[in-house]
Amino acid sequence: MLELDQARSQLESLKLLSAADILESRLQQATEKQLTYVAFLVDLFGEEIAQRRKRNIQTKMRMARLPYQKTLTEFDFTFQPSIDKKFIDELTTMNFVRQTANVVFLGPPGVGKSHISVALAMEALAQGISVYFATVTQLVEDLRRAHHANRLDSKMRQYLRPRILVVDEVGYLPMDPLAANLFFQLVSTRYERGSMILTSNKSFGDWGELFGDSVLASAILDRLLHHSHIVNIRGQSYRLKDKMKAGVYGTPSDRQTRVNGAQPREDVSG
Ligand code: ADP
Ligand code: MG
Repeated sequence: MLELDQARSQLESLKLLSAADILESRLQQATEKQLTYVAFLVDLFGEEIAQRRKRNIQTKMRMARLPYQKTLTEFDFTFQPSIDKKFIDELTTMNFVRQTANVVFLGPPGVGKSHISVALAMEALAQGISVYFATVTQLVEDLRRAHHANRLDSKMRQYLRPRILVVDEVGYLPMDPLAANLFFQLVSTRYERGSMILTSNKSFGDWGELFGDSVLASAILDRLLHHSHIVNIRGQSYRLKDKMKAGVYGTPSDRQTRVNGAQPREDVSG
């Protein structure tokens, strides 16, 4: 017994806490199963590594600040046929992260841009890839505070750390010159150094107006799109799905085409 206690406290002083916890039960199992010494060690350390990986993912998950947890299996691709499921599956390999490429989801409200971004972020986290999620408004306000407090450099370094930076809802609010400039600096800082996943309800042609400066908008787009995947989502809002079924939304001609068995017309507003 003395030796067991000693082994346990050795594991503890080596900070192998999970191994220390399970040492006694795994020793017992090893005896029962007549494991070799090596097999026992593989079992014990394997559990330590698995627990560490799990804790690591949980920590990264907290740091990612996801607004909610949603996965791709919860996404109904049949509702949104303009999204190529195979392409989204390809994104889950996270090759784009290794290539420090960006992914941009464009489309009108409610088509699943944020949902898919969160789901990709969760997949990345499960693969041990660090993520930070923010709306563009949160992000720009954070940068603005840092700018006024004379600590923009360290703030930018902070935003450079996660391997994926998700910037949600670009385009809902127009930006003042300082906000636009700070956003440009952020995109420049991450250019070819880390990936961004970005969602916008505005097509790129409208970004000049959005940033209040077409030259700046081009400079942002130039860096953002150099290595990028664009996913254009054209379709109906999932939020309004049930209301549309009940006929609350849509025009008589909409219903007419469906009655005739034609494809419902595509929403071109995004
Ligand atoms: P967007 O960011 O494009 O405005 P969201 O991703 O926020 O849209 O989607 C709106 C709501 O509808 C969310 O609750 C989302 O989970 C859900 N949703 C959207 N599209 C789908 C879909 N195809 N299948 C399942 N849920 C969806
Ligand atoms: Mg959204």
